[in-house]
Amino acid sequence: MTDRKLRPESLMMSHGYKPELSQGAVKCPIFQTSTFVFQKAEDGKAFFEVAYGLREQGETEELGLIYSRLNNPDLEILEDRLSLWDGAGDCAVFESGMSAITTTLLEFLSPGDMLLFSNPIYGGTDHFIKQTLTRFGVEVIGFYPWEQDRLEELVRKSGKADRLRMIYVETPANPTNILIDVAACSRLAKQFSRADKPVIVAVDNTYMGPLWQHPLAHGADLVLYSATKYIGGHSDVIAGACLGSKDLIARVKGMRTFLGCMAGPWTGWLLLRSLETLKPRMETQARNAAQVAAFLRSHPKVKKVHYLGFLDTPEQQAIFDAQCLSAGAMLAFDIEGGEAEAFRFLNALKLVKLAVSLGSTESLAEHPATMTHVGVDPVEREKLGITGGLVRLSVGVEHPDDLIWDLGQALEAV
Ligand SMILES: *Cc1c(COP(=O)(O)O)cnc(C)c1O
Repeated sequence: MTDRKLRPESLMMSHGYKPELSQGAVKCPIFQTSTFVFQKAEDGKAFFEVAYGLREQGETEELGLIYSRLNNPDLEILEDRLSLWDGAGDCAVFESGMSAITTTLLEFLSPGDMLLFSNPIYGGTDHFIKQTLTRFGVEVIGFYPWEQDRLEELVRKSGKADRLRMIYVETPANPTNILIDVAACSRLAKQFSRADKPVIVAVDNTYMGPLWQHPLAHGADLVLYSATKYIGGHSDVIAGACLGSKDLIARVKGMRTFLGCMAGPWTGWLLLRSLETLKPRMETQARNAAQVAAFLRSHPKVKKVHYLGFLDTPEQQAIFDAQCLSAGAMLAFDIEGGEAEAFRFLNALKLVKLAVSLGSTESLAEHPATMTHVGVDPVEREKLGITGGLVRLSVGVEHPDDLIWDLGQALEAV
């Protein structure tokens, strides 16, 4: 189109789509089809050889579509567009964030391998790592954010350093916004990598991405998303994505083909539509969150606000400065009192919805200790600061004054 290097937000309406292939339609149609016609048998043979890794794609070879479990235009265009935000070589999209995460873990870990992961992580991921991967003989070691300067020691002390194959982190950690240093994890991975057995760093970037944190730029190998959150952004679709180099994503897509957990064309189309407004949505949400956080911090019934704009240690601030481009739109706060007071607050909300999930146009509030994090061991919960009085808030695109009014009147009910 042009030599100019256009920014992702300028390309979200056009990148990867050729109107002339779809009757001139300005928008990419929904390719609601399970299978695709080959022009001749030789084409079908050629497409399968590449899809199944029997040979490399030729330099000038144009590959066609086969079957919607392997590829579909809505998914391929979505993958091309999503890759732009993180500067990734390629992307694989999935029917949920959990399928993106589990497919990736299954592809890169084998029996006997060791996985190092950060605590706290998303409940579904936590369950899969501890309950499922261990059944398949993967050794797993969790670490806390306050242990991140001792990771090398932790790995060595396990006595299985030579088996370390993956470091999996979620940053900022849900729900208290504690940051993990991705560059430090990448250095650790390099230290334990061998030429034939690299250690992969995977980052769940759902809380900050794809606008406010780009883990690949800090040395991560893979970035994972629940696209249900900011990417979808309207609380109307469940989806996921994994991004990284072409080689690594080819492996992820291979596993996806056999697990069969790719996104469908309708999901792909919804996300293409969402991506057009990703940046204005997320920027409005972050602006609103800054105002909401300031209001909550000054409120006498709020003990503490966990927000990336209010970090309280120089270590956390240093990670933020190196790694994050915004304080984001997720916050949590401790209400004076415990569960009873938090419930009174939640039940009194009029505009903000009482629901789990995050990153959407509408603001959502929930109670981590009894909802999203109820599966976490109670002692561990306390250690992580997930107390009875903690409320998590995902700030949406409403008018900030209306949000502040609602939070204020609900705090009056406490
Ligand atoms: C929601 C979420 C997931 C799981 O994604 P689904 O789309 O619900 O399957 C994983 N990680 C984080 C951080 C999430 O918030």
